[in-house]
Amino acid sequence: MGVHGRIAEKGGAGRRLELLDTTLRDGAQARGISFSVEDKLKIVKCLDDFGIAYIEAGNPASNVKDAELFRRLAGVRLNSAKLVAFGSTRRAGAASPGGDAGLAALAGACAPYASIFGKCWDYHVREILKTSNAENLSMISESVAYLIASGKRVIFDAEHFFDGYAANPEYAMACLDAAYGAGAETLCLCDTNGGAFPLAVRGAARAAVRRFGAARIGIHCHNDGGMAVANTMVAIQAGAAHAQGTVNGYGERCGNADLCAIIANAQLKLGRRCVEDGKLQELTLLSRTVSEICNIPHDEKAPYVGANAFAHKGGMHIDAVEKSPPSFEHVDPEQVGNSRSLLMSEVSGRSNVARRVRKIAPEVTKAARIAADVAARLKQLEADGYQFEGAEASFELEIKKMLGTYRQFFELVSFKVFVGEPAVDGAGTAAWIKIRVGGQEYITAGEGEGPVHALDSAIRKSVTHFYPQIAGMKLTDYKVRVIDSDAATAAKVRVLIESTDGRDSWATVGVSSDIILASWKALVDSIEYMLMRAGAPWPGGAGEAAGSAEVGAPGPN
Ligand SMILES: [Zn+2]
Repeated sequence: MGVHGRIAEKGGAGRRLELLDTTLRDGAQARGISFSVEDKLKIVKCLDDFGIAYIEAGNPASNVKDAELFRRLAGVRLNSAKLVAFGSTRRAGAASPGGDAGLAALAGACAPYASIFGKCWDYHVREILKTSNAENLSMISESVAYLIASGKRVIFDAEHFFDGYAANPEYAMACLDAAYGAGAETLCLCDTNGGAFPLAVRGAARAAVRRFGAARIGIHCHNDGGMAVANTMVAIQAGAAHAQGTVNGYGERCGNADLCAIIANAQLKLGRRCVEDGKLQELTLLSRTVSEICNIPHDEKAPYVGANAFAHKGGMHIDAVEKSPPSFEHVDPEQVGNSRSLLMSEVSGRSNVARRVRKIAPEVTKAARIAADVAARLKQLEADGYQFEGAEASFELEIKKMLGTYRQFFELVSFKVFVGEPAVDGAGTAAWIKIRVGGQEYITAGEGEGPVHALDSAIRKSVTHFYPQIAGMKLTDYKVRVIDSDAATAAKVRVLIESTDGRDSWATVGVSSDIILASWKALVDSIEYMLMRAGAPWPGGAGEAAGSAEVGAPGPN
């Protein structure tokens, strides 16, 4: 085992660490994040593919979007993840938990697990709930018991546990007793205000582990003191068997504990098994895909997964890393699917690129010359503003172009977009387009609510003329991100679109300083990708006449 592979810290090596992702619930509280139901379904799929044990999908009683999400999730088959619905204990003074709308929504949700938070800090019981300590304990135990009687398995989120433990340890423990006694499987200790220090977390977590056993204890931290991951790690070292966080640490105020760092730390440094070994190599991809879905620029200096996490600039550092990587790297970047980048080096990221390329073209190996060329080309595209995580269809087309296996189904001759005032002509915006397929040109136009919509309708109309296969294809999502924000006049935009044929969906990307051109590139990729998958005849293909039935005689349109 090399220096990179050693387990550096004590902390229950070999034991399993159960992960709960709350990106869709706590993460959705972050400023700047607004998930559609489609976004949430995509994230559930990413987390499930990655192997996260529990996905806290939202609060079915809090808003209609979450209620719809749970309805949609009822029809989704997950590989291994278990869904968790989130809510709170019954209201103070209510006669029984059965009459509480929030608890009833949890009982009725498709999720087999319910996670409910309850107060553990006597100050909160007194000042916020304005009830007695005894009533709060009844609220906890009755709510847990009600959910268990409804067939749910319960995770109890011990809100403000560490502040409560510091102020009144007996009462904070009594709250855990109430949840445990009523049948909660996991007692998750929360640093809700995010200001706890690691040694305080360690002391309180150890006390809870002694009382209830390590297997019952979980940890949920916020980052207001910049210590969310550190506090999570000390609780895990104190024995906690369950850890909560959000992808990239998204969350209210300063965010939640970053699940990506927790996973890598736990698995690589503490030897605690979170996900399968092969999956850990997809950590960087998970992090970047979720940031694209959130439409938030990926944090370059994020631990383990950031673009700069293994970027070496200093000459002596580069020299040393090239002699022996552990000299200036705490882990091997490939273990988390990231790559080393050395300035002035042409080969950076080659093996990482090769791994992604092999998924598309299995014949390409790391050693092949092509991997270096592809790595260099991708680096150039990324420098131009492209980001292929979250746009796998464009990535696949790009790789095929580089390998010389790309087939162009249609050629743009020209297009024009006419922006008008709806109030004047009643039609809004129109686009005119001329394309060429197998030597034959075709002109058509489309209208829409804005230039991109008009262009989309024109291109679809013209391509459908030659390839009726795309008639059922639809655009389901359109996102624009401004990049190069420091140079406002030369700012580029990255357009990410998602399309579906009603069965599968795929995402494509386009970059330009002109939003219409960026949209055009993403639209063209999405259509080409669909045609490629559908096995559409290629107008220039060997043995296929340019004027074959599919591409020849123009019919009425
Ligand atoms: Zn939280």
